[in-house]
Amino acid sequence: MDLDFSEDEISRYSRHILLAEIGGTGQARLRAARVLVVGAGGLGCPLALYLAAAGVGTVGLVDDDRVELSNLQRQIAHGMASLGRPKVESAAAAIHALNPDTVVRAHDVRLDAGNVLALVEDYDVVCDGTDNFDTRFLLADACVLARRTLVSAAVLRFEGQLSTFKPHADPDGPCYRCLHPVPPPPGLVPACSEAGVMGAVTGVMGTLQATEAVKEIVGIGEGLSGRLLVWDALAVRFRTVRLRRDPDCALCGPNATIRSLSAHVGAAHAGAMPVCDAPGDGLAPGPGAAAGSGDAPGSSPGSMATRSGTADDRQAESALVAGPVPEAGGGAGLSGLHGRAGGVGAL
Ligand code: ZN
Repeated sequence: MDLDFSEDEISRYSRHILLAEIGGTGQARLRAARVLVVGAGGLGCPLALYLAAAGVGTVGLVDDDRVELSNLQRQIAHGMASLGRPKVESAAAAIHALNPDTVVRAHDVRLDAGNVLALVEDYDVVCDGTDNFDTRFLLADACVLARRTLVSAAVLRFEGQLSTFKPHADPDGPCYRCLHPVPPPPGLVPACSEAGVMGAVTGVMGTLQATEAVKEIVGIGEGLSGRLLVWDALAVRFRTVRLRRDPDCALCGPNATIRSLSAHVGAAHAGAMPVCDAPGDGLAPGPGAAAGSGDAPGSSPGSMATRSGTADDRQAESALVAGPVPEAGGGAGLSGLHGRAGGVGAL
């Protein structure tokens, strides 16, 4: 690996290099890394900006939307001058202004079964900040088939969820389908355009997503494979729930039946349900919703929730707060984004 840095690079990344866990080697890994950001919205904007600021060498952006006024409440890479422009173009300009050394590949396309594998295979780490379950499942399937690490985030109203899926590298780590075998029925999960989302919540979750992506690239700390982070902004509560791999998973199990993306052909987007235009809406559709957490009365049924079958497996691992963890009680924990459709961890 090339460990030579210019004086400007040493200055720009000095606060990283000072960290023993990152140092020059970690910074070189970031420079060599290629990260695909799917969705240049509420999650993708802060995510892509922090990846570029961190010195990630190549950032790919996938989105086929144009910037609208209603996006500016949270999609901070875009501004008034970008209204009507492709989001990937607007975000690429913001990244370039921040760090011209980061190569930005703007993919002004909508992911489908015909293009997703080639895109995913071109990157080392994939970040999901999409806004509909069709794309979320398509991307999750492609990442397992291509053996790429997927860092997924979701937001809705005042809640966020985050997890990392890399069953190819973590024998105990689930894939998205371990949590949600199938997409939720149309209409089950409300869209952000219907239910709303607090702008800063998308910023926090996109930034947490960038943090996990950087950790995966550098290889430090404890990642979120096998765990779901749930943040309730109204209650100011972060919780981490354990996610288990499903030995019978049709995608990552030993007897997997999903070996291609053929099931997505034609179906793509036919029933796309925007969950939130701030990408992220549901890492997890899920049944878990029903359980609700009880401690967050207004929260939507778990978006990232887990599938009912695994709900009982969820165990509060530890809250980031000291003291009793209210969620410890059975599957009640995930109220948010995840559970809408079904499995535990929907990110
Ligand atoms: Zn699986």
